[in-house]
Amino acid sequence: PAAEAGLYTASDQIVLLSEQNVGSVLVNSSAAMVVEFYASWCGHCISFSPIYKKLARDIKEWKPAVNMAAIDCAADENVKICTEYKIRGYPTVKFFHANSSANSLGTPYRGFSRDVRELRHMIIDSLESPGDPWPPACPPLEPTSEAEINNFFETNTVQNLALIFENDKSYIGREVTLDLLQFENITVRRVLDTEEHLVSKLGVTEFPSCYLYYPDGQFERLVVKFEVRTFYVYALQRLPGVVRSGKPPSVFTELLKNRTEEPWRDFNSSRVYMADLESALHHSLRVELAFQSVINGQALTALKDYISVLSKYFPGRPVVMNLLKSLNSWLRNQNKGPISYKAFRERVDNTAQVPDAALPEGVRWVGCQGSQPHFRRYPCGVWTLFHVLTVQANNIGGSEPKEVLNAMRNYIHNFFGCRYCADHFENMAREGLDVVTTLPSAVLWLWYRHNRVNNRIAGDLSEDPFFPKIQWPSPEMCPSCHTVKNNGEHSWNEAQVIPFLGSHFSSSRILTDYLE
Ligand code: FAD
Repeated sequence: PAAEAGLYTASDQIVLLSEQNVGSVLVNSSAAMVVEFYASWCGHCISFSPIYKKLARDIKEWKPAVNMAAIDCAADENVKICTEYKIRGYPTVKFFHANSSANSLGTPYRGFSRDVRELRHMIIDSLESPGDPWPPACPPLEPTSEAEINNFFETNTVQNLALIFENDKSYIGREVTLDLLQFENITVRRVLDTEEHLVSKLGVTEFPSCYLYYPDGQFERLVVKFEVRTFYVYALQRLPGVVRSGKPPSVFTELLKNRTEEPWRDFNSSRVYMADLESALHHSLRVELAFQSVINGQALTALKDYISVLSKYFPGRPVVMNLLKSLNSWLRNQNKGPISYKAFRERVDNTAQVPDAALPEGVRWVGCQGSQPHFRRYPCGVWTLFHVLTVQANNIGGSEPKEVLNAMRNYIHNFFGCRYCADHFENMAREGLDVVTTLPSAVLWLWYRHNRVNNRIAGDLSEDPFFPKIQWPSPEMCPSCHTVKNNGEHSWNEAQVIPFLGSHFSSSRILTDYLE
């Protein structure tokens, strides 16, 4: 309950401190910890909380080296802890180095900034403060030398060495090193512009710039749209052989291609496939809904709205559209309360024999295939389906901007099998649907929230290592969607994202390969 009442929740990538966990989180931790002591009633804390959350999302990849926590000192049960840590004012942010002892009070940040970039730099400075124990999972952050690089491949089995050339004031090299800390097969090191021999050997003229260095002494410049942190990270995470730590190596395609029970279907990961959309419909209408033998009240309204939106905006084949339309008119006539799933299912299977109407049986995942059977598939199909529907409503001019999103929200809330996904999604919808006032803003809302989910679950066990969660689309897919602010921070060019989504999910670009 205290966590609920505070300014943060478990999905903010922030450890919620309590009497129960404070000992294990702050004492002898292998990662350094940044901790905010706040009071939920304090105005400064309330206005700082979005910045702290943004920082947590921004450096979530750094967790094994430096993690973030928060505690609400206004909650009765936390007063003792906040007193022990000698908290005098709110918010207080403290740094605890790795392996802190039980009597460590941490080092408070004084007059700390409210700018995510500056906070990030401040954390790096703390990590590097001389004499403090180094978190074991933290890679070296100090500049490397030509001699060290020359020996690198003798002492390492890593295939990719990325060198970021920069001046000593720049934090980019250290940030990217930390951003890639949870990835295998890549080492990132910073090289200072004063390392003259190496600079002239590689012909480096721009600082920062990034070079890939190979075991045979060859090197090449990493090509990015902007020489800033985010673009280096996007590019480096996608190098061949780079995978999240602890995930299997990249021999999977051959294995999968040889699997007999379900053949691997080659696909283009920057396209949308009708086979995925039909598979999602099959699973939704014949499997997920089947769990409710009687559909009534709010759930029935949700089902009606869902089918109505599908019958209007699903860009399906004529037979599928005929089926959805017949389903929709049948549902509209069921105005007297509960319907049985059985009766609904008969309509889905077209036992009424409406001419030329059918939804193909079974699933046939293509763009939503996973490297293992428990990865991707249906949830991937659901996202794709709803992006297509918001885009389609925008392209053909739907009547109500929130129509598709409300239908999605209520479908997810009432039926989506992943209950914690449904709860998270409901929270996002509750917080933010007001901003949706036009059809394009509905398209953008779903894109933005989907990226929020991607950010939150990147690296989780549910992530397919071969389809890492990224802030989508990558600069490769849509260069113009990405831009940088004056201070080098990444930002989205939303005016370009809308047309990109409009085209990516448009009915005319959906591929029909692998359909029956
Ligand atoms: P997905 O995230 O399913 O995306 C499918 C495809 O959409 C991608 O391959 C890409 O081509 C495209 N795409 C990616 N990002 C965007 C974007 N921002 N805008 C438009 N298109 C994009 N899993 C959890 O573990 N925890 C959760 O809380 C959770 N909540 C979920 C809530 C909903 C409503 C849904 C539908 C799913 C949720 N999931 C959750 C599942 C998770 O989001 C993924 O769907 C699943 O892990 C499969 O991931 P994927 O790699 O196939 O990509």
